[in-house]
Amino acid sequence: MVVADTFGIVRDSHCNQLYANGHKRPSYVDLSKQFITQAKKELFWLKEVASTPLQQSLKDLDKAYKNFFDSWAGKRKGIKVKPPKFKSRKSRQAARFVGENYKIGQDKIYLPKVGKVKIVWSRSLASQPSSVTIIKDSSGRYFASFVVETCAKILPKIDNSIGIDLGIYTFATLSNGEKILAPKPLKQNLKKLAKFQRKFARTEPGSKRRERCRLRVAKLHTKVKDIRTDFLHKLSTDLAINYDTIVLEDLNVSGMIKNHKLAKAISDLGWRQFRTLTEAKCEKYGREFRVIDRWEPTSQKSSCCGFRGGKKELNVREWTCLNCGTFHDRDINAAVNILEVVQPKTKVETIETVVENPVQLSLFQEVAEGQRSIIYRTWSQRNSARKKVVDGNDVSTRPEFFKQLSLFD
Ligand SMILES: [Zn+2]
Repeated sequence: MVVADTFGIVRDSHCNQLYANGHKRPSYVDLSKQFITQAKKELFWLKEVASTPLQQSLKDLDKAYKNFFDSWAGKRKGIKVKPPKFKSRKSRQAARFVGENYKIGQDKIYLPKVGKVKIVWSRSLASQPSSVTIIKDSSGRYFASFVVETCAKILPKIDNSIGIDLGIYTFATLSNGEKILAPKPLKQNLKKLAKFQRKFARTEPGSKRRERCRLRVAKLHTKVKDIRTDFLHKLSTDLAINYDTIVLEDLNVSGMIKNHKLAKAISDLGWRQFRTLTEAKCEKYGREFRVIDRWEPTSQKSSCCGFRGGKKELNVREWTCLNCGTFHDRDINAAVNILEVVQPKTKVETIETVVENPVQLSLFQEVAEGQRSIIYRTWSQRNSARKKVVDGNDVSTRPEFFKQLSLFD
C-alpha cells in the first residue's frame, strides 16, 4: 500500500504540472497509458502491487479532476472544489480491489500480491460485495470496507415527528423537551494531546523516537474520533427508529468554524457528521428527513404565539415572550419552531384543546391565522408608541422589524 501511494505522488505531480501549464484535464486513458503501462517499465517496484488498486487510484484521480474542472466551469453545484492534493505516506491509506481478483473466505480474505489476510468480521455481508477497500488509518489499524447492496428496512409509521436544535452546550434539544449532551472527547483529552504533541515536536526528524511519538498522537486522535462517531451513530439510529419525520436546521458549519473561539468546540461535536448519519439512517428506515433554511428565525420567534421577539445574544438561555407571557427555554423553543416550519400543526393542536366542537376545527385554523396577524398589528402599534424604550433582552424595536410589520397594514 505504501508503494501504491508513492505511485500516487508521481501521478499527482504530473497532473498538477499539466494544470499549472494551462492544459486541459488529462483523461483516464491518457493517464493509464502514461503511468500504468509506461511507468511499470521503468519503476520495477510498481510490479510489486496488484494492478487493480493502481487503476482504481487513477480512476479516483480522474474523478477528482473532473469534479475540479466542472466546479470551476460552473457545471457543479455547491462550494468550489479544489484540485487534488498530494497525500502523505503517514496519513490514512487505502487500496481498492474490484472484480474477481479478491476472494472472501470464512475468516480470511485473499488479496492479489498480498496473499491471505486474517479478518475479524464486525458484521455479516448482506450480499456479494462489488468491491473491497483495505484501509490503514494513521494509527496503524487495518480495515476492510465492502460495498454491498442492501434493501431499506422500512419501519411502520408511528406518527411521531421531531424538531432538533443543535447547540454547543447541549448537543441536541428535541422539540419534546428532551436534552441530549454530547461526550466532547476532544475537550477531555486536550491536555493529554498537548503533552504528546509537545514531546513529538522535541524529537529528531527521522528518528525512531519520532515515529513512536507520532503514533501516540495519532492513536489519541483516533480514540477521540471513535468516541464521537460512536455517540453520533447511536443517537442518529435512535432518532430514526423513534420518529417518522426528523427536522434539522441547516447550519453554516464551515462559516462558524472561522470563529476561532468556537472552532474547537464545534468541531468536537460533529454537527455535520450527525446530519449525514441521520439522513442516511432515515433513508435506511424509510423515514422523512428535512432540513430547514438557515435564515428561519427559529430562536427569535415565540413557539406559543409566533411573536417575533428579535435576535437574542448567545448567552440568553431563557426568556419570556412579551406577547403571550410564556417563559421559554431558548433551545426547546427553537426546536419547536424548527419542527413547525415543516409541520405547522402544533399551533392548531394547542387551539384544539380550547375548541369544544372538533367539527369546526378546519374553520378555526383560518381564524387562528387571522388572529395572529391581528396580534402582530397591535404589537407594531404598541411598539411604535414606545419606540425609544429598548429592552436589553429584546431588540424588537429595530427598524427592520417595522418594515416587516408594515406588510400587515
Ligand atoms: Zn409568545
